Amino acid sequence: MANAKPAAAVSTAHVLPSYLDPNHLGPWGIYLQQIDRVTPYLGHLARWVETLKRPKRALIVDVPIELDNGTIAHFEGYRVQHNTSRGPGKGGVRFHQDVTLSEVMALSAWMSIKNAAVNVPYGGAKGGIRVDPRTLSHKELERLTRRYTSEIGIIIGPSKDIPAPDVNTNDKIMAWMMDTYSMNVGSTATGVVTGKPVDMGGSLGRKEATGRGVFTVACEAAKQIGLPIEGARVAVQGFGNVGGIAGKLFAEAGALIVAVQDHTGGVANDKGLAVPKLLEHVAKTGGVAGFKGGEAITAADFWACTCDIMVPAALEGQVTRANAGKIKAKMLIEGANGPTTPEADDILHDKGVLVVPDVIANAGGVTVSYFEWVQDFSSFFWDEDEINRRLVGIMKHAFDAVWQTAQEHQVSLRTAAYIVACTRILNARDLRGLYP
Ligand code: GLU
Repeated sequence: MANAKPAAAVSTAHVLPSYLDPNHLGPWGIYLQQIDRVTPYLGHLARWVETLKRPKRALIVDVPIELDNGTIAHFEGYRVQHNTSRGPGKGGVRFHQDVTLSEVMALSAWMSIKNAAVNVPYGGAKGGIRVDPRTLSHKELERLTRRYTSEIGIIIGPSKDIPAPDVNTNDKIMAWMMDTYSMNVGSTATGVVTGKPVDMGGSLGRKEATGRGVFTVACEAAKQIGLPIEGARVAVQGFGNVGGIAGKLFAEAGALIVAVQDHTGGVANDKGLAVPKLLEHVAKTGGVAGFKGGEAITAADFWACTCDIMVPAALEGQVTRANAGKIKAKMLIEGANGPTTPEADDILHDKGVLVVPDVIANAGGVTVSYFEWVQDFSSFFWDEDEINRRLVGIMKHAFDAVWQTAQEHQVSLRTAAYIVACTRILNARDLRGLYP
């Protein structure tokens, strides 16, 4: 032992945290590629870019509940706060059987970019539970939501991090979250979540806001490429809160919804689907499959359909190398978060398809969440016209800034949105400096 060498000091500078393992990056890997693409445009702020490549804080929680049959079930929950340089964390909570930490990390980062792109004073966060909520009863869902809220209660709050609805969550779930948090802190805290029912601190227009934002941005983009909305052929993937509302607004403006597709199936009608009837069918059956007002189509038919505007408004990773080449649309408006992979982005770009990225296209939801939060703080509520007018103003302004940036640097709208957003985030980082 006398000859044993002292252990060399181990440098960990090159060792990535396990969740950044390049072999298992998933949606987070896509986000990292998007950051690499914007880095050359960040000038002196590029010295801070690593900040964007690591979530500030990630919490994994065990969510045990008693099922109605008396057994105990455990679910895995997450809340990730990606960045808080510009304000508190903000972003939805998703209940889905395929939720992973990588996915929630990516979604939280996309919230940072989105909030900065439309210039609302938030950082970015996201949460989720790995569960198929359709397998739970109403009471089980309530117990799950309440226990999850309690577990993440140590990091959320009206001035810390404000959850909202996302895939498979809604105003009812927000009411339980708000109540649970309020019970834990001992006073009613309406501002801890947004997307609440209007009767208890929610905002008029919030439910429709994401779809309305998608439609507004699509109209702005259509103007730029000289495409009239009246008579335009629109295909929508996902006919829920985002795709359904956007589809309704397109139809009301005289566009034809020629194809829809979701997790239950697809339907097409060359003369345009009757949107109010389709919405009723979805509300009743849970999906578009079986709708009688058109013919059934496969997912492959959907992506290859003849249309002018395509709106992926379901989950991430839908437009890929496999189907991007078949898309015939002139514009792709991302209602979902992260629906297009970077490879598909390049294919669409080369084909001359204008891609309006998620961080602008679907930012209407969080914009009205911001209005809701402001209204809760001041306990003074605005009328719906005021909300929609302000929403449309912010969306148009944000689209315009991104369009100008794209022209200036000759880059895609996604890279332009990232230039605008990352500059804002990293400028705040630079001004605040590092603590300690
Ligand atoms: N989940 C929505 C989104 O992805 C809304 C988030 C919010 O309102 O905070 O943008």
